[in-house]
Amino acid sequence: MSHCQTCGACCASYRVEFAVYELDELGGHVPAALTEPVKGVTCRMQGTGSVPIRCVALAGTVGQQVDCNIYAQRPRPCMELSEGSYACHKARARHGLPTLPENATA
Ligand code: SF4
Ligand code: SF4
Repeated sequence: MSHCQTCGACCASYRVEFAVYELDELGGHVPAALTEPVKGVTCRMQGTGSVPIRCVALAGTVGQQVDCNIYAQRPRPCMELSEGSYACHKARARHGLPTLPENATA
């Protein structure tokens, strides 16, 4: 089982910004209704633009049990943030969670 299901720290730590071409209304897959414009061709997941950061698509309690409500449709930054990466460690530390082994997958 992925540590992510009992974590969610990265979804409550970072601005999740990406190009509008990823939005469903422009032929992509991310639900536009859950995003907000930033500038130019950049948009972001609602809830990640100001502190306390918490992506609107995150369900559950960080550090206990979480789910991404749009997991299959999540934007590129979410797909690219891998468990065990530096960004993962940083987010977990911010939420008081122990670090994971490098490139942890289980
Ligand atoms: S990638 Fe890391 S910080 Fe993000 S949910 Fe998974 S374990 Fe937590
Ligand atoms: S879209 Fe999903 S994976 Fe990405 S930050 Fe939001 S809750 Fe986390």
